[in-house]
Amino acid sequence: MKDDLNKVVDKILDKYPAKVMKNRKEHILIKDSNENKEISANTRTLPGIITNRGCAYAGCKGVVIGPIVDMVHITHGPVGCAYYTWSTRRNKGRTREGSKNFINYSFTTDMQESDIVFGGDKKLAQAIKEAVEIFNPKAISIAATCPVGLIGDDIQAVAKKAQKEYGIPVLSFSCEGYKGVSQSAGHHIANNNLMREVIGTVDIPVEDQKQFMINILGEYNIGGDEWEIKRVLNKIGYTVNTTMTGDAEYEDIAKAHNSDLNIIQCHRSINYIAEMIEIKYGMPWMKVNFIGIENMSQTLRNMAKFFDNEELYARTETVITEEVEAIKDEMKHYKNMCKGKTAMLFVGGSRAHHYQGLLKEIGMDTIMAGYEFGHRDDYEGRDVIPYIKLDADTRNIEEIKVEKDEKKYRLRIPIERLEQLKKELPINDYPGLVVDMKDQTIVIDDLNHLETEMVIKALKPSFFGSGVKDKYIVQKMGIYSKQMHSYDYSGPYAGFRGAVNFARDTAAGIHTPAWSYTIPPWKKEPILKGKINTEGVEEVC
Ligand code: SF4
Repeated sequence: MKDDLNKVVDKILDKYPAKVMKNRKEHILIKDSNENKEISANTRTLPGIITNRGCAYAGCKGVVIGPIVDMVHITHGPVGCAYYTWSTRRNKGRTREGSKNFINYSFTTDMQESDIVFGGDKKLAQAIKEAVEIFNPKAISIAATCPVGLIGDDIQAVAKKAQKEYGIPVLSFSCEGYKGVSQSAGHHIANNNLMREVIGTVDIPVEDQKQFMINILGEYNIGGDEWEIKRVLNKIGYTVNTTMTGDAEYEDIAKAHNSDLNIIQCHRSINYIAEMIEIKYGMPWMKVNFIGIENMSQTLRNMAKFFDNEELYARTETVITEEVEAIKDEMKHYKNMCKGKTAMLFVGGSRAHHYQGLLKEIGMDTIMAGYEFGHRDDYEGRDVIPYIKLDADTRNIEEIKVEKDEKKYRLRIPIERLEQLKKELPINDYPGLVVDMKDQTIVIDDLNHLETEMVIKALKPSFFGSGVKDKYIVQKMGIYSKQMHSYDYSGPYAGFRGAVNFARDTAAGIHTPAWSYTIPPWKKEPILKGKINTEGVEEVC
């Protein structure tokens, strides 16, 4: 089997010129528990290879900052970047009583040639003024796009001046699209600024502090995921103080340091904030996974263990039993439809790992997985962090250092207990994607168009979970492709009820009758019958 997979990989690599082959070889790994092989990740995209990756602006404004509902997010640049990120990510956000919600808008300075030549600072200042006058938001963000850094617009100075003038926070993000190598750089830039400017600026009075108060980090409420997670957490007795950043308001982020525990869904996009909060405020973080029944249940049990409260343990078990009971028949039905099928997953920086458990629960094996912009720690686990070599592209992204806040720092649990718990729970730890994959499966980083086609032709999966750019190419090959970023406009997929939604959509997609009509009948068998004599057709029936 391993030889067969090696042949598949060799066949792909054979297509490349020598230099490209050498590079791509390092991004492909065949899982073998007896070998401890490295994978190359978070390196520069090869020009012309048809990557699926996006840019730092997409990671900063599109992913991390954009979901904050009561801020006006101004894209400073020509119109394209704002237009193509206008409501294309399905991070849902509701309007709270007496508050505002700008999630359906896209704001831009729409730079023109004269702004490139003479600078766009004035236009940006004017855009902020208009946003304040028309929308009166709680806060404003400015996201820089490619030309902004090149022409030297000082968006920090404009933001500072506007903040003083209008008396609301104005945050500036230098997330020009060419920074770093992918969306990942934008996550880091967004994390830095939220930590520097926002987190820790609003304290919750002691009388309003709740027991079991947590933050959900790296959860963006795609298709309502966060609402479904919160429904279950609230039922058990948790108070979600802040979610970063799905359905969040500005002030939620500002008071995040008041909670007792940070739980991380997407490690890639937000681990920087989790680490900095721990250093500055003493709040530990734990990796969780809300996708799939087993992962969800395990996550809830891990959280209960952290708080170590008898009532919480009991409520956790009651809720798990109730929720599982309510969905078990439906899950069984979909498992019967999907069992024995195989899946491939190629998604951003976390879902290619998170969904493997849920696929297994409906009887499907993941035979290939990969990230667009994961780092080596997302594949191999955080233990490799000290050994990751920094290249020129990574060094360009600012690393900020935070220090203990003497006034606000507090230990949530005694150090000895925390150290003990670290041995039992994924506290400050993420073991990565590779560890959960079966032997003789393939991991491919920054999968491109050619590799997608070749790996599908060779291994013929029943399900290819990826994004909109892949979807129709794969479906034209006769294979069901599910969008794992937008959920094909369905969802939620997180939590117990989300697991059923995913199972239902997947079963329907795989069993769509149209797959049996992709080859016309005349290519499978003759549709005319008749006799032929020496002069031609004698009789057609
Ligand atoms: S790469 Fe540049 S131009 Fe393209 S979306 Fe990103 S910021 Fe905009």
